Amino acid sequence: MSDAAIRIRDLEVHYPLGRRFLGKAEVLKAVAGITLDIPHGSFFGLVGESGSGKTTLGRATLAAAPISTGSVSVTDGQGDVFDLAHLDRDAARRFRRRAQLIFQDPYAALSPRMTVRDIIAEPLEVMKLCKNRDEVNERVRAIAAKCRLNVEHLRRFPHAFSGGQRQRISIARALVTNPDYIVADESVAALDVSIQADILNLLKQLQRDLGLTFLFISHDLSVVAHSCDHVAVMYLGRIVETAPPRKLFAAPRHPYTRALISAIPSLDPDDRGRAERLEGEIPSPTNPPSGCAFRTRCPMARPLCAEETPRLRQMADGHRAACHYAEELAAPGARAPQVQGVPG
Ligand code: ADP
Ligand code: MG
Repeated sequence: MSDAAIRIRDLEVHYPLGRRFLGKAEVLKAVAGITLDIPHGSFFGLVGESGSGKTTLGRATLAAAPISTGSVSVTDGQGDVFDLAHLDRDAARRFRRRAQLIFQDPYAALSPRMTVRDIIAEPLEVMKLCKNRDEVNERVRAIAAKCRLNVEHLRRFPHAFSGGQRQRISIARALVTNPDYIVADESVAALDVSIQADILNLLKQLQRDLGLTFLFISHDLSVVAHSCDHVAVMYLGRIVETAPPRKLFAAPRHPYTRALISAIPSLDPDDRGRAERLEGEIPSPTNPPSGCAFRTRCPMARPLCAEETPRLRQMADGHRAACHYAEELAAPGARAPQVQGVPG
């Protein structure tokens, strides 16, 4: 069995824009060429600004976004391999129970007219995974307990619960089919800061106890930093850097990662105001800049950056970075090298 639970090669996801230019149908490349391995049993973080393509990439690994070119294959805990670009009906049915999504919004995700028991049981019923009602109840109770819900909770309706409790219900529902791969898309973003840590700890504990592979998506680098084993940073449909979080924070190798790190509010008053501001908006993926997509906001951009798209390269220190000048980046806070003739 390969080390990678999720193997992504040269993936592009295109959405048609419904208009033509010079006779060709125009498309938006939400994922614009990604090669990435997500190891078995890892808690893998995916970060980037809104619009960078995180949700689309996550959905592509669940066979829920169109694979326009390239491939995504998922190896489950039993060693079965699912080639998501070519799933037949039977494989699609088997895959659905191996891989699950936890939604962002615990308010919208739960049907208000169903009891918590029925909400959690629904995937078991739809996929016909149990012999009878007793077995369903048994599995619902077991997973609810693991998600720290108690038996009384199961008879109530979702409106009776707080945001954190509703997120536990969503998590229980995602785990009830015994999947081995989970995509958690902004699963703590809608929660109060005090509850975020709680849910994050629960997800981490479930991941360890159940041996799950987790893709944890967040726009917030500080959330990812404290929980993930690996982090991939995304910008405009591409991965720009990957590293273990400690290394990423100590010495980012991509100017975009460095800007995200310095935008995290510091508790040290001496440190405030030193933040390097990320100027401007993320460009539209319908008309991305030539060469390096980040160059229009990059303080280090040089002529080569407009001409050539940097590949994601393996660096000596365990990072991978897609920057022509990655070697020049030192610790966060270090000044960017002076660039002649290019406005910052
Ligand atoms: P993120 O999760 O990082 O905010 P998304 O994957 O949601 O990013 O979106 C990436 C880009 O793809 C955005 O420009 C978004 O508008 C576009 N997009 C996402 N889903 C669709 C869709 N179903 N049809 C057309 N465009 C889409
Ligand atoms: Mg998203």
